Amino acid sequence: MKRLRRAALLVGCLVCAAGAAIAAAEGGPSVRECESREGFVRVKADRAIGRERCLAAAERVVKAYAFVESAASWSRRDRLRARPLQFRLLDGSMRGLGYAEGRDLMVMRDEYMDRPLSEGTLAHELTHIQDARQLAGRRLPSFIAEGRALAIGHAYRIALGQEKGDYDRRMAASAASFTAGDAGRLLRDYAGAGWDNQAIGTALVEYMRTRWNGAGLPDANARLSRMVERMGEGDGFDSAFKKEFGVPFGELRQAYMRFLDATRGDPRARLDGTIWENVGPLAGAWPDGD
Ligand SMILES: [Zn+2]
Repeated sequence: MKRLRRAALLVGCLVCAAGAAIAAAEGGPSVRECESREGFVRVKADRAIGRERCLAAAERVVKAYAFVESAASWSRRDRLRARPLQFRLLDGSMRGLGYAEGRDLMVMRDEYMDRPLSEGTLAHELTHIQDARQLAGRRLPSFIAEGRALAIGHAYRIALGQEKGDYDRRMAASAASFTAGDAGRLLRDYAGAGWDNQAIGTALVEYMRTRWNGAGLPDANARLSRMVERMGEGDGFDSAFKKEFGVPFGELRQAYMRFLDATRGDPRARLDGTIWENVGPLAGAWPDGD
């Protein structure tokens, strides 16, 4: 019995010491759960973390969620806050860096939260969650979901004063190299996934915003939100797209393919005016035309 008690004490002390170390490193007592001030975001961690770290994560999610809500220009906001949002912080063994699951859950790798790019990931995944809350079970073509989420994630990083970085340069390189054939294939795969699916979706949303029909539609993302709201009220994608943009989606795809043909081998003509204008070294490597 005595030995058992001593062992229990020892374990207790080790836990204590671990807790104290976390508290010293991350501020406050260690916790596994906490809530944002107004209770909308509920954070759960798979290991004990400092209370201050937990609360800071909750408030970052609140802030990013509000940014997305405003950037998407929703006209219906009742569904966005009807239920609390779960935010899970996992250790390094999780797959990927962060993802959204359904309408209510976002998961992020805890140590990734310390990297600036994680702000973009927050806004990106929270865009998926807001879309899911509006869609009420319907699905967007994945490239459109990814395209608008990436554009909003990028806008959030820039709003926070971050510089464009390697991630943006790699996206720009993809957008610069797509051919009409790539677009024809990728923009017919409504359930596609992966880098090219995300890159072509973002390039398409940027094309809509800056070039479609000549001058582009500066409110393209807001119109996509209207389209999502229509789908949430029961419309299918094709019908909702046509109501919002006046033409079938296939017409946008054809126009974009013609644009890719016309700008082939000329990244500046293709990317000027988009979020990838002046992304850094790649911009310097573009032909000047002289
Ligand atoms: Zn995504």
